[in-house]
Amino acid sequence: MPVRPIVRLGHPALRTPARPIPPGLLADPAFQALIDDMVETMHEARGVGLAAPQIGEEIQLFVYQAAGPPEIPLRVVVNPLITPQARELVYDWEGCLSIPDLRGLVPRHSAVRVQGMDRLGQPLDYVVHGFEARIVQHEYDHLNGVVFLDRMRDLRSLAFFDEWEDYLVGRSHQDLDETAVG
Ligand SMILES: [Zn+2]
Repeated sequence: MPVRPIVRLGHPALRTPARPIPPGLLADPAFQALIDDMVETMHEARGVGLAAPQIGEEIQLFVYQAAGPPEIPLRVVVNPLITPQARELVYDWEGCLSIPDLRGLVPRHSAVRVQGMDRLGQPLDYVVHGFEARIVQHEYDHLNGVVFLDRMRDLRSLAFFDEWEDYLVGRSHQDLDETAVG
C-alpha cells in the first residue's frame, strides 16, 4: 500500500469542492486501493484524519482514526453529510497535515450527526461528540474547500508547533491528550 504525497495549502484541490462518489465505483478494486492508501498515508503522517483532497483527489471521502485517549476506531466515510447536533461551540487546538507545523484554536460544534456510506456502500448514520466531532468537522470542511484557518475567530492563537508546545499547549478551553490534526 503506497503512501501518497499530501498536498499543501496552495494546491487547488484544497480549495475545490469535492465531487460525490458514484456508489457503483465502490466495488472497483482501484477505489478500494485508494482508501487503503489514504489510511496508510494518515498513519505515516501521524494524523488522526485525512480527506481525499489532501492527496489531490477531489472526491467526497475521508478517513479518521485516533490511538487516543480517547481511542477512535478507523472510520471510512463516503459522500458525507454532517449536521450539527449542538449549538454550543467548543474551542480547541487543531493542526492540518496540509498546513504543516501550525496550530490554532478553532471553534467546532460539540456534537454532529454523520450520514453517508462506508467503504462497502453500507449506509452510515451516527452521532459523534467531542474530539471525534472535531475531527469529522475538520475533514468534512476539506471536502468543501475549507481549511481550519478559515474557521479561526482570532488568528492571534496561531503558532508554530515548537512554540505552541513551549508556550501554549494546555491553554485551551478543554484539555485533551491529543490535538486534532487531519
Ligand atoms: Zn486538514
